[in-house]
Amino acid sequence: MNPGGEFVADVGRRDGEPTDVLPRALRDVVNATRGFMPEDEGRALFDAASKYSVVGPIVEIGTYCGKSTLYLGHAARLAGVKVVTVDHHRGSEEHQPGWEYHDPSLVDPEIDRLDTLGAFRRTVVRAGMEDTIVTVVGASADVAALWGTPLGMVFVDGGHSETAAQTDYEGWSPHIAPGGALVLHDVFPDPADGGRPPYNVYCRALASGAFRETSATGSLRVLERLP
Ligand code: SAH
Ligand code: MG
Repeated sequence: MNPGGEFVADVGRRDGEPTDVLPRALRDVVNATRGFMPEDEGRALFDAASKYSVVGPIVEIGTYCGKSTLYLGHAARLAGVKVVTVDHHRGSEEHQPGWEYHDPSLVDPEIDRLDTLGAFRRTVVRAGMEDTIVTVVGASADVAALWGTPLGMVFVDGGHSETAAQTDYEGWSPHIAPGGALVLHDVFPDPADGGRPPYNVYCRALASGAFRETSATGSLRVLERLP
């Protein structure tokens, strides 16, 4: 608002055109970052993080090179909370040599293992988010077992095997504060669109009676924890 004047925040936007969630410089970093977060779902992720960061800090499972982390980080920075992003940085099944999403440029030649940590660290610096993002390198289940702080939001985008997805749910959902949210990626109700495990977790969370769905964008689902 400008006192005595009209509301000017939307100046420069054409009718019906969505406002960008990210400042231009940050959007450039997002676009240059390798990963698996389409823009519309990133926007929904930012919206969820903005809403639930009022409840508490944000945890992300599945950092990869940080594409999704930037949407969370921008919301967290505006809210004055931290994002903790957890990954062992060795990639999921589908990132390994011979699999669909393998990127040879992410292999550490000295040990011949996938390593996304360096790429991620560069992403954080380029986005100017070193003060907002806390990087945890480790297996999701190990970190969950050590965790104690109630969370405003948990974004689960880690391993997509049935065991990995269910373990992430079991390890992290108890830490979500009432009024906070569990946000799931790669939820495909139609098996023709993708794998079952994240969808199975989505069904399990709703069936538990502890969550209600508050939004769905592409494969992203936001489930709010009931009081
Ligand atoms: N959110 C990212 C994509 C994540 S890909 C983006 O927007 O681009 C999935 C990530 O989960 C991979 O980086 C992989 O290393 C990580 N991962 C898989 N299983 C894991 C586990 N058990 N513990 C920690 N990280 C895991
Ligand atoms: Mg994903």
